[in-house]
Parts: sequence; structure tokens; C-alpha cells
Amino acid sequence: MTKRIFRSICLAVMAVLAASLCIIMGALYGYFARVQQNQLRTQTALAARAVEEEGIGYLENLPDLECRITWIDSGGNVLFDSEEPSDQMENHLQREEIRKALKTGFGESVRYSSTLMEQYVYCAQRLSDGTVLRLSVARHSAATLLLGMARSVCVVILVAVVLSLWLAQRLSESIVRPLNELNLDAPLSQDGYEELKPLLSRIDSQQRQLQGRDTQLRRKQREFDTVTNNMNEGLVLMNESCNVLTMNPAAARIMGLVRPFVGVNFRTLNGAQTMEAALNAALNGTHGECSAALSGGVYQIDASPVRAADKVSGVALLMFDITQKQYLETQRREFTANVSHELKTPLHTISGYAELMKNGMVSPGDIPGFSGKIYDEAQRMIRLIEDILKLSSLDEGAADMTRERTDLYALAAETVKALTPMAQENQIRLYLKGESHFIEGIPQLLSGIITNLLTNAIKYNNPGGKAWVEVGGDDTGVTLTVSDTGIGISPEHQKRIFERFYRVDKSRSKAVGGTGLGLSIVKHAAMIHNAKIELNSTPGLGTTIRIRFPIEKA
Ligand code: ADP
Repeated sequence: MTKRIFRSICLAVMAVLAASLCIIMGALYGYFARVQQNQLRTQTALAARAVEEEGIGYLENLPDLECRITWIDSGGNVLFDSEEPSDQMENHLQREEIRKALKTGFGESVRYSSTLMEQYVYCAQRLSDGTVLRLSVARHSAATLLLGMARSVCVVILVAVVLSLWLAQRLSESIVRPLNELNLDAPLSQDGYEELKPLLSRIDSQQRQLQGRDTQLRRKQREFDTVTNNMNEGLVLMNESCNVLTMNPAAARIMGLVRPFVGVNFRTLNGAQTMEAALNAALNGTHGECSAALSGGVYQIDASPVRAADKVSGVALLMFDITQKQYLETQRREFTANVSHELKTPLHTISGYAELMKNGMVSPGDIPGFSGKIYDEAQRMIRLIEDILKLSSLDEGAADMTRERTDLYALAAETVKALTPMAQENQIRLYLKGESHFIEGIPQLLSGIITNLLTNAIKYNNPGGKAWVEVGGDDTGVTLTVSDTGIGISPEHQKRIFERFYRVDKSRSKAVGGTGLGLSIVKHAAMIHNAKIELNSTPGLGTTIRIRFPIEKA
């Protein structure tokens, strides 16, 4: 802009300068023409008087003159000429100034000489004897005048150009400066040009509109970030080339990335290969689903196409954690298979013995033994079904059971009493230690916990061994400890004995009437009471299981 203004000012100055020069030259030319004419008249009058007095002698003795002198008789014949021999000159009677002078005493004319390519001014005066004296002088053209003044004109032009360049530079800078200093963040607070006011008002209103939209966009972005940052599900938005536009922290965590990556191709990221099927389906315009093992869990991947103008312009990918669901599903399948297996064995035994008896293949003396076996297997099945029912009730959260203030020590005493015959049978001595401690709990479940733990302490013990039940506590909780001097559990089994149907020694468990569900029931019952289980066991020395019931403050 500065350059443009500079150029415009320069052009304007040059045009004014050229016009001024032309006008001045025209005026000078007119002035000099008038001065020349007046001089010629005066010279003609003086020369006429001199010729009247001195005759041709005056003319012949004249030094070199700037003007030409011609003396003509009344018939038009040239008597004398200062530049050419008079006898060679043509008759001058028809010359305008001669005719006027013969007629009125004085004549003037201006003519262009095509031979000399110059304009000539003529001035003629009639003398008293009827002859005419004429003086003529060449009039310089405007170009000649200009040439004559060339140096002065050049100096003027040079000064004018330098001055106008300097002025144009200063002017253009001073015109542009207020524009450069405009603060567009506060357009209405400017003291600039009045003509800019409408434009600045427009900018101000547009800026306010933009600020409004910007605030709105930021708010929406914040809301979106808050929602996606706090989601447990992974969310990835990408364009049709699979370049990531948005990735929430959960998605980065699930994919095992150090941070959410944006702007990179999704396919190049760790774990993206496992989602390829769902991604391809979404890119082809259909909803895609698959499950992927990521970050130590199992995730369901849902990929949906994002459409714009009937074209897939991106993909929205959601990752749901289905680890627990899958785990429960596997557990359910394993449980069903285990239950079928556990029931099949006693049923086969019962069926086999019954068949022998039906076919009369058992002697009367063996019948009590056979029916005793059938009874034992039936009892095993009943215990198993009872345990399964207890577990399924616990799986439901024991919703049908009510909590009440329960003395854990009193429950332990009852259990010890109930299991004393079994302990005596197995040559185990039972001990009860501690004192009354109350907790808010479900008595049936608490009793089930103590019974299962104490039964195990008897079952997995050695003849002559001991088993203790102890109830202790403080302000924060009550601890139930069941320990024995039994066979113990080796470390590799300790982690798994609370699983359903897990047994360290299957035949021993079956021999002592175990179902493999006792500790699962203990675990679930403890969970319902928010209790923590701790197991300490040394093979050959014994086992201690401690359950800590927290006292919930009102
Ligand atoms: P079970 O009906 O077989 O006793 P549990 O769930 O009660 O089933 O126990 C699971 C397994 O843990 C048992 O089969 C046994 O191998 C082991 N176990 C449980 N309690 C003890 C204990 N006090 N001493 C040694 N082993 C034990």
C-alpha cells in the first residue's frame, strides 16, 4: 500500500510538474513574442528616421544586425536588403506588411518561412518619399525557447523530482502509519481516519460474533473432554484415512499407549491390529464388532461409520471392558461342567449297586453293605446339591437373608459343640478361645463360615491332631481364626483353594465327604460381610485361616 500511494503521489507530482512547465513555457513564449514585436517596432521607427536623414548611406554602414533590413520603393522593388543582393530579389508589393505600410504608413505581419522552417515577424514603415523600410526578425519556436532554457528547466525538474520523491515518501508513510497502528482487537477505540469508522464497526461486530462462537466452541470442547476423559470406555475418532482426531485417556490406557496419540494413523498404533475387522467394516459403511485381548483384559470393540453427504468420512471406535463378563461366562461354563461331573460319579455308583441288587447278584449278607454305599453316595449328592444351592443364594447376594447383631463367639461355641462328635471320630481335639464379639451380620452365613473352616480343620488333619477356633477383636473389627495342626497346603495350591470344586487331593476330599465347594461358600459369605480372608499354611505343620470382619460405624 505504501508503494502504491508513493507511486500515485509521484505520478500526480510529475503530471502537475509537466502541466506547469507547459503553461509556464506557453506564457513565456507569448511574453517574449510581445517583447520582440515591440522591440522590432521601435527599431523600425528608429531606422526609418535614420534613413530619412542619411539615405542609403546609413543602411550600407550598418554593422551586423540580428534583424534583417529591407528598403523597398513604392512600386515594390527592393532598393536594399541586408542579407541578399537587392537586384536578385523579387517584387515585394504583395507582401502583407508592405501593402499595409503603403496604404496606412505602417504595416506588420507574421509569416512562416518554409525554406528556413522558421517563423518571421515583419514590421514596415512608409517614409516621407513614399518608399517603405522593413525590418524582420526570426521568431524562435517554443522548442527553441525550451532548448535555450534547457539548463534552468533541467535544474527545476531535478529539484522538483527530488523534492516530490522525498515528499511522496513522507506522505505515503504518514498516510499508511495510522493503518499499520490499527489495533484490530479493539477496533472502536481507534483515533484513525473517519472514513474507516464503518469498516472498523463492521470488524468489531464480526469480532464479537467470532468471540461468541469461540466461547461456545470452547465450552463444547470442554464438555466433550470432561465426558470422554472420565469415561471408562475407550473412545477413538478418526477420519476416513484412519488418522486419529480424538483419543480419550481410557483408549490410550486400553491400547497400552503412554498417552493419547492424535494426528497419527490409527493402524500404526499398538494393539490396532486386533481391531482390524471392526475397523474395516466401519470403513465399508457398516457397524463392526469384535473382541480383542488388550492390556491384560478382554475388550469388545464397536466401530461405527461417521457419514457426511452419504460418504464415510470417519470412524467412531468404542472399547468396552468385558473381562469380568467373559470371566463370569467362563466360570459359569466351568461350574456347569463341574456340577454335571460331580453328580455323574455318585449317580453311576448308585445305579451300579442298585442294578446288581435288582438282578439278584448280591447275596443277602452283602445287602447292608451295598445299601450303605448307596446311602453314602446319595448323602454326598444331597450335600453337593445343598452346597450348590447355598452358593447360588450367595451369588444372588443373599438378598432374602436379614442381618442382625450376632455374637461370633457364641456361634463358634455352637459349632464346636456340633462338630465335637466328628472331631472325636477323627481323633482331633477341638479348642475354643476368645470372648464375645458382636458384628452386624447374617447368622446362617457366619455359622456356615465357621462350620466349613472347622470341618476342613478336622478333615485335613492327622489323627491326634488339634484344631482351634478363636474370636478376638478391637474397635475396628472382629477376627475369626480357625487353625489346625493338619496336613497343610503347599504354596502353589493356596491361591486356588477358594475356587469352586478346587481340591488339592481329590481322592482325600471325596473320602472325607468333601464337595470342593466349602471354601467358595466361605469366600462369598465373607465378601457379603465385607470381610478379608488371610491364609497361612505350611505343608506338614498346619493351616490358619483368619477372617477379619470390619465394624461399620453408624
Ligand atoms: P472340600 O469339600 O474338598 O473340603 P473346600 O472348598 O472346603 O472343599 O476345600 C478345598 C480344598 O482345600 C480341599 O479339598 C483341601 O484340599 C484344601 N483344604 C481346605 N482346608 C484345608 C485345611 N485346613 N488343611 C489342609 N487342606 C485344606
